[in-house]
Amino acid sequence: MPESNPVSVVTGGAGFLGSHLCDLLLSKGHRVVCLDNLLTGNLMNIEHLEGRDDFQFIKHNVTEYIDVPGPVDFIFHFASPASPIDYLELPIQTLKVGALGTHKTLGLARAKGARFLLASTSEVYGDPLVHPQPESYWGNVNPIGPRGVYDEAKRFAEAMTMAYHRFHGVDTRIVRIFNTYGPRMRPRDGRVVPAFITQVLKGEPLTVFGTGRQTRSFCYVSDLIAGIYALAMSDCHDPVNIGNPSEMTVLDFAKKILDLCGGSSQIVFKPLPEDDPKVRQPDIRKARAVLGWQPVMDLDAGLARTIDYFRALLTRGLI
Ligand code: UDP
Repeated sequence: MPESNPVSVVTGGAGFLGSHLCDLLLSKGHRVVCLDNLLTGNLMNIEHLEGRDDFQFIKHNVTEYIDVPGPVDFIFHFASPASPIDYLELPIQTLKVGALGTHKTLGLARAKGARFLLASTSEVYGDPLVHPQPESYWGNVNPIGPRGVYDEAKRFAEAMTMAYHRFHGVDTRIVRIFNTYGPRMRPRDGRVVPAFITQVLKGEPLTVFGTGRQTRSFCYVSDLIAGIYALAMSDCHDPVNIGNPSEMTVLDFAKKILDLCGGSSQIVFKPLPEDDPKVRQPDIRKARAVLGWQPVMDLDAGLARTIDYFRALLTRGLI
């Protein structure tokens, strides 16, 4: 790492995770170049950074050639649609940014001699047959199902990243991100956290898919971003899971949101989407051992902040 003011490029920097990563990097003294084509990103997520001389936003689709003048020390590739509704509505863009976008950003890393970190996903494990999921598990993915466009693009992205590492000697990292929540999630991205919170705040029924017995494990965004920063600064080239292992059923999660929001919504059951994973929980022993990282945010406290965020959007007429 350079003596002072390293330069970081964040693709998808106007998205949910990307914008929080920009904030953390700036707080660590990095100069940040944020690339986003605003397909699912939103300028509202970075409006508080406008006018800073250590922050630059460039509207760009990273599946096309990327031109960033001057030295670059780190590249964080976070651009991608990232919710099951997005995969249905934007299947080709999802495949392209995971495949072509990863190729272009790795090319930039190679040209600049920059360290490269890929935002991969728990979806590489598909509907897992091993539980919880350690990094050594190869997964159970349906390549031609509705989620295949995301899962296979991220699996390709991991393969491409390792090929650039082994063949071109690029200094790479891979984080496998598990379900994460917090302020700046898109209210209508269909994911369970914004869906349930906005439903209760608007007095609508909570839509639980299937029986609600499927499980997920939710990590607060500041914990996740701290883990990713620790990985970026580590020497670890192999994939590392980052997430919160405290697991619960979707039905229990719906009841918790009702309880925390204080609403009177009913719970209604809707069909389970195709290939919806039945269980998910990160095995984070590697992150603990290699990075000395573990999540610290309590679920109720993290959800309270997230509910406040969506309440504010509702007050401003943005939901
Ligand atoms: N889910 C639900 N109701 C909703 C949205 C999602 O019951 O309105 C369920 C979904 O079927 C899945 C879990 O919540 O089992 C998490 O879904 P999400 O879309 O947040 O992401 P995933 O973890 O499936 O990628």
